[in-house]
Amino acid sequence: MRYSVKARLAENSPGKYYVDDYCNGCGLCLSLAGKFFDYVEGGKYYYIQRQPLNADEDDIMQEAVELCTMNAIHTDGDQTFFDIWNYS
Ligand code: SF4
Repeated sequence: MRYSVKARLAENSPGKYYVDDYCNGCGLCLSLAGKFFDYVEGGKYYYIQRQPLNADEDDIMQEAVELCTMNAIHTDGDQTFFDIWNYS
């Protein structure tokens, strides 16, 4: 089911990067940055299975953000899961 407002997928690893429900399962992100992405059974959609841990990994993830065919990969900027937790 497609929502009118993009929704952050529940399977994403906590952190600043996430995939939303506009993902079409094309698999490009896995080809570009395989260690950060995984998919649900059948490959219907993909999600962030691990967040980048350093600047080099961040660069790889940024490329996936820019090349995602559905503009479905996003970032909350420098905010981390722990920042969100502390401010909520
Ligand atoms: S590149 Fe984008 S649309 Fe394609 S599987 Fe990855 S998140 Fe989904």
